Amino acid sequence: MAQVNSTVRVRYAPSPTGALHLGGARTALFNYLFARGQGGQFLLRIEDTDRARFKPGSQEQIEEGLHWLGMNWDETPLVQSERKGIYEKAAAGLIASGAAYRCFCTPLRLEQMRAEQRARHEPERYDRRCRAIPLDESERRAAGGERFVVRQAMPLEGTTTLQDLVMGTVTFRNETLDDHVLLKSDGFPTYHLAFAVDDHEMRISHIIRGDGWLPSAPKHLLLFQAFNWPPPAFAHLPLVLGPDKKPLAKRHGAKDVLEYREAGYLPEAVDNFIAFLGWSPGTEEDILTMDQLIEKFSIEKIQASPAMANLERLDWLNGQFIRRLTADELAARLAARMPQVPVDSLKPLMPLVQERLRTLNEAPDMLRFFFENPDSYRPEQLVPKGRDAAATAQALAEAATTLRALTSWTPESIETTLRGLAERLGWSSKDLFMALRVAITGRTVTPPLIESISRLGKDTVVGRLDRAGQSLREPAPG
Ligand code: GLU
Repeated sequence: MAQVNSTVRVRYAPSPTGALHLGGARTALFNYLFARGQGGQFLLRIEDTDRARFKPGSQEQIEEGLHWLGMNWDETPLVQSERKGIYEKAAAGLIASGAAYRCFCTPLRLEQMRAEQRARHEPERYDRRCRAIPLDESERRAAGGERFVVRQAMPLEGTTTLQDLVMGTVTFRNETLDDHVLLKSDGFPTYHLAFAVDDHEMRISHIIRGDGWLPSAPKHLLLFQAFNWPPPAFAHLPLVLGPDKKPLAKRHGAKDVLEYREAGYLPEAVDNFIAFLGWSPGTEEDILTMDQLIEKFSIEKIQASPAMANLERLDWLNGQFIRRLTADELAARLAARMPQVPVDSLKPLMPLVQERLRTLNEAPDMLRFFFENPDSYRPEQLVPKGRDAAATAQALAEAATTLRALTSWTPESIETTLRGLAERLGWSSKDLFMALRVAITGRTVTPPLIESISRLGKDTVVGRLDRAGQSLREPAPG
């Protein structure tokens, strides 16, 4: 039993700018595993203050993706755009204490400043011109309706040290820190202000987030200090890279979480795949259930170096998880993909396909012939190489006659009969079975043939053999 630490409160804080991708899901999962393993809380926060990048429907997709992956959050998600006034008030408090200041520089002036910095090969950052404006003048100009942003006043000397739970001790020189914007001129906060205010208010104990935020982390620590709030612990997660060592993206074949659902992947497989992106239990085990992941997860075992994503492993894992389902579970998962077939009719067929499926989406095609006659035949599939149509039609007719006469309809008797027929015809069993396979199922790749024949029943099988033979005797259309 994991140690219970009910003060652990973590959050996943997506920006609703699109779908839930694997990297986002990994951040969410690490937070979730940590919270559940510690008996703490996992919260959700929607960071939608960047109105230009906001995408309607994105929050719903992210929430659906999380639910599908089995991550349920505690409490009602906090939505930042509903809290504008709270951030404005927090910024005002920082201005009053001198930890932040109003900046009235116009976009044009900032652009000129940056161009000059570029020309001098200096890092682009705010030159702090407005930091010198006395507070009463700043108040007057703001009251007079002048547009401004609020910037954090960074210390001009000294260092700031972050003890990151993953990346270790990271020390930054304060003179390198930009006086970044906390509140924009439209009154919306930037990420920096909003996350700190919210993490404090939500009593977040650990910030587990992507390492893209590591360079801003000292400013974030200083912001907590400026508010006089104890900072949460930080754990920055390593980047996830594709095989070319560039950040994992669609061009590597990575899909969004809900696209994996559409493509017939099991959430267990996706969870397992993302859990191992930068973490491992430190043992040989590599297929774990969610409960096992929760039990084994620890922040100490997250690696600091980038994680390499091998998407072929996800395909392999998916097959593994499909094999681990019971026949009833597999049938239930396939039901939505084969709505015309009662789930009870699917169950007995599961042993025939379970070992062969890589995704759930392959099942309808593999199983369709149990419920539908093949609608047409392609002679080049029906007629084995080196044989002709007439001989194949003859072989199918003989197979129909032989099977019709069978008194015992078991896989053993069917197999013996058909092997005997191949011998009589002078055909290899391989050729005969391929012609029979296509005639009975309409496909060249199917579940085991004899087993399928036995389950389809004599009338269906003989009827299909007759029809297939007939198709070879009719003149080709056109
Ligand atoms: N909205 C931020 C992002 O999507 C969240 C970072 C954080 O977890 O604090 O990157």
